[in-house]
Amino acid sequence: MKLISLDEKQLINKTVLVRVDYNVPLKNQKIVDDSRIKTSLPTLKLLQKLDCKIILLSHLGRPEGKKDTNLSLEPVAQHLAKLLQTRVEFVNDCVGSKVEKNVAKLKSKEVLVLENVRFYAEEKKNTAKFAQKLSVLADVYVNEAFSACHRSHASIVGIPQFLPSYAGLALVKEVEALSKLMKNPARPFVMVVGGAKISDKIDAVTNLSQIADAVLVGGGVANNFLKADGYEIANSYLQDVPADLKKQNVSYVAVAKKIIDDNKTQRLLKDDYIPLPKILYPIDVVTAKSINSQKTKEICLANGEKKKVTQDLMYLDIGEKTTRLYQEIILQAKTIFWNGPMGVFEQPQFSRGTKEIARTIAKAGAMSIVGGGDTICAINKFGLQSRYDYVSAAGGASLEFLSGKELPGLKVLEN
Ligand code: AMP
Repeated sequence: MKLISLDEKQLINKTVLVRVDYNVPLKNQKIVDDSRIKTSLPTLKLLQKLDCKIILLSHLGRPEGKKDTNLSLEPVAQHLAKLLQTRVEFVNDCVGSKVEKNVAKLKSKEVLVLENVRFYAEEKKNTAKFAQKLSVLADVYVNEAFSACHRSHASIVGIPQFLPSYAGLALVKEVEALSKLMKNPARPFVMVVGGAKISDKIDAVTNLSQIADAVLVGGGVANNFLKADGYEIANSYLQDVPADLKKQNVSYVAVAKKIIDDNKTQRLLKDDYIPLPKILYPIDVVTAKSINSQKTKEICLANGEKKKVTQDLMYLDIGEKTTRLYQEIILQAKTIFWNGPMGVFEQPQFSRGTKEIARTIAKAGAMSIVGGGDTICAINKFGLQSRYDYVSAAGGASLEFLSGKELPGLKVLEN
């Protein structure tokens, strides 16, 4: 995929509309994590160097097409001013004459943050009229919101119909990192997948299982694989299939079974030549009667200890043997992609698997890409965030990209 990257000569002195992803977590109007804002800084600094007037457009939360002052981008604009160390203006709308007047007042290098684009239902509907109203604000459009590129929204696919359009620096970097995984990964390539929502990840697992040398499954996602292989999962979490897929008789357990069956090929651990299947799921688990329970019991699933699994138990972390096996494989990897915690890491009694796997990936010496909101939360909690080559906040978009789907927001930026 060859994206149209920033062309410095074409950008000098221009008014540039940058679609950023400032969908940051907020608590009482305060920003809890500003990494998404920081991601946009190199592009913004470059545009300032090129004497551009900079207009920033983003969504925040899900206001469902209505004005919601709790989801205003004003606090984000104030925070950006601190990070950029320049004055940042804010206007409480994103289209119309008031906004146009504010844009007209902008001087080169100045920054104007527009109000949440999702206050307009036309954003999600991607109406040409709304995209055109946004595009009249600028000479050029830059997309620096990879995480929204799986959406056919006006600010992502509509504006490029009206303006010369470029991919931002961080967007290009992210697409390059993910493309390398799919096309030319240094081998062995190990995928580590966990978390609760298999719905987000199943297509990426299906696609990457054909490319990776090993897929290590943990978290709630692993329950689908265990059940598919005939193991008891008792009261453990299994995500429900949405109604439309249920009608088509789709079940995630059946998809997991297909992934296992399609990848029955044996792989060998480099050093001790132990034959192992390519798709691995826990051989032991940490269990409890509830997520809040302090009373935990580790159960081995692989050697007939089935009778120990009573119906009231939940599998809430990978066990010690599984952790050691996964660590051994991870340490041999040259490329690692990780999305989803290995257990309910928010609770100390179920965090060991995630912490151990996070540490092992950090020290493996492989090219490592870590993605997904909760996975980032986990690595921040363990103080490991700087220990990976690439940490991607774009959960949904990167998983769709890795599932081999064409992202509409990237298609419009292709050369
Ligand atoms: P996801 O957004 O799909 O990556 O899911 C992240 C969430 O999965 C975290 O909040 C974890 O607590 C949760 N999780 C991880 N392992 C399990 C498990 N075995 N059972 C239930 N929830 C889990």
